[in-house]
Amino acid sequence: MAKGRPKYDSRSRPPREEEEEDWAPKTDIGKRVMSKEIISIDQIFEMGKPILEHQIIDALVPNLKDEVIEVSMTQRMSQNGRKSQFRAVVIVGDGSGHVGIGVGKADETRPAITTGIRHAKRNLIKVPLGCGSWECGCGKKHTVPIKVIGHNGSVVITLKPAPRGVGIVSNDVVKKVLALAGVKDAWAFSRGKTSNVYNSAMAVFKALDSLNRMKFVGSWETEEPSQQPEAEAPKAEGAGEGEDKGKETGTGETGSDGSGAVETTGGNENKAA
Ligand SMILES: [Zn+2]
Repeated sequence: MAKGRPKYDSRSRPPREEEEEDWAPKTDIGKRVMSKEIISIDQIFEMGKPILEHQIIDALVPNLKDEVIEVSMTQRMSQNGRKSQFRAVVIVGDGSGHVGIGVGKADETRPAITTGIRHAKRNLIKVPLGCGSWECGCGKKHTVPIKVIGHNGSVVITLKPAPRGVGIVSNDVVKKVLALAGVKDAWAFSRGKTSNVYNSAMAVFKALDSLNRMKFVGSWETEEPSQQPEAEAPKAEGAGEGEDKGKETGTGETGSDGSGAVETTGGNENKAA
């Protein structure tokens, strides 16, 4: 009957108009993302700045998946009696080294989930993956690089590196967080009241985040150091003492060592003069 706008039944899901809104960034980071000055989420992590707008994540990590791990009803007393709210615990992740966790509260489940997703996006962290298992040594990024521990509330989670093919050995909540983070193999041990979904997920999140606060030489992710120029240096010097003068200067200049090049050219000039 009605032309133009489709009608929505009150029971069905309302249209999501807010998601389609144009984004007007308010923070400095947001503006730099908008102007394409920042093109990767890792740039922001390197800067160490907080992400205050979930649209930054939408722009930089478009392939993010979300998973609602718990929806519960909370009640509190007010002057008019009980007021109930819904609380959603949501995790987001791209399955390759980025994960976030968030909680949303609202009068209905759907907006609670939407808020939870936004919080989870703003809480996104980088998860440095590696091959920390001495039984494996494949050098691929499939497990945690070292043993890590995280706790939230009474829950303590220990994650240990596992060789390839083991999978995630843990309970369901831990498995979901690790899978979204991109961890393919790990052994997880948990203590405390693990029936608390939020504390369990948060403990895993903290365990993974602890990798970001560690000091280490180089990177978890580099497998072998890049080529060293030392191998060429003695060769260039050897050539400097050798036969062909024209060739010597050439190798000296292209060689890695600046001082060596100066020496050889000086020698050549003296000989030529
Ligand atoms: Zn491995």
